[in-house]
Amino acid sequence: MNLRLRGLTHVFRLYRSTLLHVLQSTIYYSSWSLHAFTWTYVMPCEVKRRFVLLYGSQRGQAQAIAEELSDQAAEHGLVADLFCLSKKEKYNLEKETAPVVFIVSTTGDGEPPDNALSFVKTIKNKSLPRDYFAHLNYAVLALGDTNYANFCNCGKTIDGRLQELGAKHFYSTGYADDGVGLEIVIDPWIEGVWEAIKKSVAEMATPGQQDTDSARSLHTTDLTAAAGQENTRASGLDVGVASLTLKDKPAQASEVPKSTSEVEKGEPKPVVLEVSLTQSLPPLSESALNVPSLPPPFLNVSLEDAPAQELSGPVRLDHHQEVSISKTVQLTRDDAVKTAIMLELDISGKDMPYQPGDSFDVLCPNDASEVLKLIQTLRLEQQSHHRVQLELRKDTKKKAAQLPPYVPVGCTLLYLLTWCLEIRSVPKKAFLRALVECTSAAPEKRRLQELCSKQGTADYNRFIRDTSVCLLDLLLAFPSCHPPLSLLIEHLPKLQPRSYSAASSSQRHPGKLHFVFNIVQFPACPERLVARRGVCTGWLSSLVSPILQSDSAMQGPVETTVSASLPMIHVGLRPGNAFRLPSDLSVPMVMVGPGTGVAPFIGFLQQREKERVNHPDGCFGETWLFFGCRHKDRDFLFREELERFVDNGTLTCLKVSFSRDASEGAQSQSSPRYVQHNLLLHAKEVANILLKEKGYFYVCGDAKNMAKDVNDVLVDIIVAEMEVDKLEAMKTIANLREEKRYLQDIWS
Ligand code: FAD
Repeated sequence: MNLRLRGLTHVFRLYRSTLLHVLQSTIYYSSWSLHAFTWTYVMPCEVKRRFVLLYGSQRGQAQAIAEELSDQAAEHGLVADLFCLSKKEKYNLEKETAPVVFIVSTTGDGEPPDNALSFVKTIKNKSLPRDYFAHLNYAVLALGDTNYANFCNCGKTIDGRLQELGAKHFYSTGYADDGVGLEIVIDPWIEGVWEAIKKSVAEMATPGQQDTDSARSLHTTDLTAAAGQENTRASGLDVGVASLTLKDKPAQASEVPKSTSEVEKGEPKPVVLEVSLTQSLPPLSESALNVPSLPPPFLNVSLEDAPAQELSGPVRLDHHQEVSISKTVQLTRDDAVKTAIMLELDISGKDMPYQPGDSFDVLCPNDASEVLKLIQTLRLEQQSHHRVQLELRKDTKKKAAQLPPYVPVGCTLLYLLTWCLEIRSVPKKAFLRALVECTSAAPEKRRLQELCSKQGTADYNRFIRDTSVCLLDLLLAFPSCHPPLSLLIEHLPKLQPRSYSAASSSQRHPGKLHFVFNIVQFPACPERLVARRGVCTGWLSSLVSPILQSDSAMQGPVETTVSASLPMIHVGLRPGNAFRLPSDLSVPMVMVGPGTGVAPFIGFLQQREKERVNHPDGCFGETWLFFGCRHKDRDFLFREELERFVDNGTLTCLKVSFSRDASEGAQSQSSPRYVQHNLLLHAKEVANILLKEKGYFYVCGDAKNMAKDVNDVLVDIIVAEMEVDKLEAMKTIANLREEKRYLQDIWS
């Protein structure tokens, strides 16, 4: 009797919480839903089972996955309470009785995304009792990139801490790697999570009735291993890296039949000789396709010929400030492969205290001519100065639909596309799926279906992801595709600021902040008919180009102090940086920074130079810098300044490698080509500094190749110098990272 009563109480609790949930959402949506609510209550079998879905997202990817998961929940008889981790007032894990799913990305050197920082800090509180989350059943999907150190660190931190506080997994943790394609792990993880949530809900409603351990063991597939297998299979197919797409399970995915009868009947089949963005070959062109379900539209957008908000700059946050560019220096010769530019910002009078090693964000607009071209392609030229009116569709099936907060009320179409949306972003498969509906020509429709289908993943990777195709490229390649503006706002992510490392010390340059960047170039290719430059670096170089051009006859670096009208940009310091000089001046350090990766080390050395002047009797540790570039005469950044640091003793050793000079025979064949080769040549000294003298090891620059190669060489050095095996060496490196003596500031 007691048992039955207890069971009933649990069932009642479950329905009560579901009831409250349904009540909240129905009141919010419509009176029709209120009717549904009554029906739902008297027919308990129909009650959707609730779970909590929390995300922490830096660039919107984890959020997008969480939103898609939430949208798919209904198909599985579930309803998700979806919240950002920062909205602590909206969820309460202390009392949560439903399963909780965390989807979190990792940023910087393993840090949580900004909107998860406070949550992570809260659960890390050492005073929390061991059983604090003993009632909690949860699962984690961690996003990361193995090109960076501390892969999936935020997910691992949350996971580890929840375990310490007594919470239980109801499903194994997924570690998705952007370095090889997030979907390799995400797709199977999502396929399995629905059953796991349902089981967990059932267990929590009727505790003791099921063997929870055996139930859980059904879901303990190691998804990292699964990723490895998938990867091996993919590599055989020459599949590149896929961006995230969420697809239905095959059984539920929409099926596009084998032969597209529209194509066959209506128009003659083109003879295709080569596969391309717009053309496919058998077997894909003849196979049945599993395409993702159509993302539910959620915005009504109109363009009104009414006075719009006169906005001219970026959408600003409190910590962004407008500063002037007081100096520009082209650090490379005109014949260098990449052009590197140093900008000096005048931050005097601004509240921007920074230290060497800090990085900051630059708010940048999309390229003006590209925006105009997009407006033309959308056939909206006449309305570019019209006011954009946004509202949520009352009938939307999208859960947690909201107006994009980064679109200011009453802005113009031109402003929207210039400052709010990342128009260069690579369209995700869900976006392609939505574009299918706006395409009239049958062959184009079919090709878009292929590109977003499960079967077309290799083509998607090859022709869209790997070539960085953007929406405009697609619209030009598929001329019968005419999406409404609402679709762009629904699918294009927020235009992100770009980060740069400070390349100065405020002790050396009071009131000034320097940074260095390479102008990113996207050459023209069959998928992208015109060459383009990076959004931010292209814009910055245009801003300063009139000044640089006037001096272009000069040989060597071009330096210009801006006087007439100072170009202005908006910047903001990035919080929470660990890439700092050791506080103890006597601690030695090794710095590795090829190309623009040298930027923070210029700041470090300027600071050290000052400190040496201020403390003439001080004890200073050795400083080693490994720099690399292509050609000694063309792109040896900061050469004079670095040589001065060596001359005055600030820099103990400067080791430089030239990758192209060596191959052109200007140096002997044994010359080190890359920074890692130079590190190997000085293995003894590096090992001594790091292991005997407890020094610091800093790496800055390219995440994709250099940082990995340097790490591998460091393992080799430790193996050789400590006479240990590789595993032991890797442990030593892990300890260095743990002690914050191996620090990276890397980007791709
Ligand atoms: P975007 O338009 O954003 O394009 C860049 C993207 O295109 C990248 O994903 C890149 O992989 C890809 N890409 C580049 N070239 C090609 C090509 N030819 N074909 C196809 N794809 C390509 N950068 C610096 O130069 N100096 C710094 O000091 C610096 N510090 C940073 C510090 C931090 C903490 C971080 C996160 C990044 C830093 N970066 C730095 C990188 C910087 O933020 C930008 O990513 C970079 O300047 C490019 O911005 P963009 O808008 O011009 O390029």
